[in-house]
Amino acid sequence: MKYEIKSFMHKSLPVIQEASIKGRNKLIDEKIKTTCKAGCSSCCSRPINITLIEAAIIMNLLKRKGLWERVRAKASELQEFDTIDRFTWFRMKIMCPVLDTDTNLCLAYENRPMECALHYVTSPAKSCDPWGTSVIEYKKVDNDSFYHELVTRLTSIVGDSIWVFEAPVYKALLLAEVFKSKEIADQDTLIQAMSKERI
Ligand code: SF4
Repeated sequence: MKYEIKSFMHKSLPVIQEASIKGRNKLIDEKIKTTCKAGCSSCCSRPINITLIEAAIIMNLLKRKGLWERVRAKASELQEFDTIDRFTWFRMKIMCPVLDTDTNLCLAYENRPMECALHYVTSPAKSCDPWGTSVIEYKKVDNDSFYHELVTRLTSIVGDSIWVFEAPVYKALLLAEVFKSKEIADQDTLIQAMSKERI
């Protein structure tokens, strides 16, 4: 079965971008005072998973901006941490490969993953930083229902194809690059290809 990746990306992009709108509207509607601001990238050390369709859209944007090779190289380097658990990953403060560590800005901000776009906190920034000295309680704005709704809509677009498969950001980006040019029939083939490609 051939997956129409271009069509999937075209239909999925508005859903992914809606996360940003929903997240911001909730802050306005419920008068929530967030402490998040541009240049604070503490949350970009969180080990999150994204769908391959989100990764394909990010890769496309980065290619258009001429930034893909740089991000790809960082994503490749992160494969050495493949076996560490999520808690250790966070404590090591391993930053997302899509973050520009000079400016602390997301290189794919306009098409960033839904989980990132829906992530807001009301607690001080230090409580998000794995190396922060604050012990103040971490308080996240609850956007889980939006996230699940949007994932459901994405699933209805890409069906049971490999594009709904979730992986850590670095791995999802590398997989998206491999599979964008291939016809993959099912998740068994995906898993076989992952070990063959050593991703
Ligand atoms: S995709 Fe962007 S916003 Fe999300 S963790 Fe990576 S750098 Fe941060």
